[in-house]
Amino acid sequence: MLYYGLKNRIRLLIFMFRNLQKEKFECPVCGYSGPFRDIVTSEGPRKHAKCPNCTASERHRIQFVVVHEVLRDRKTAHLKMLHFAPNHSFASFSHSGLANMKLRT
Ligand SMILES: [Zn+2]
Repeated sequence: MLYYGLKNRIRLLIFMFRNLQKEKFECPVCGYSGPFRDIVTSEGPRKHAKCPNCTASERHRIQFVVVHEVLRDRKTAHLKMLHFAPNHSFASFSHSGLANMKLRT
């Protein structure tokens, strides 16, 4: 899945090229496979923190995996989800078989 258009696609390719030696991971949110971005926060550095394709952080990726696991093999058409501090990672639900679930932010 491609986010943010051609400009960000080019940035992603440059990032991947510059980080060929880094450890590779797969993002459960967007399906990207390759190195992840390290970030520095007020709490300190976090290695492999952000997906360079969809910008999902560790928290977003684990939320995505847990929600998918909890809802696996269930009918979601009647379900609603209230999500505080929403991010666009959950927009990917529309592409993941949970499209019928109502997401409130
Ligand atoms: Zn991603």
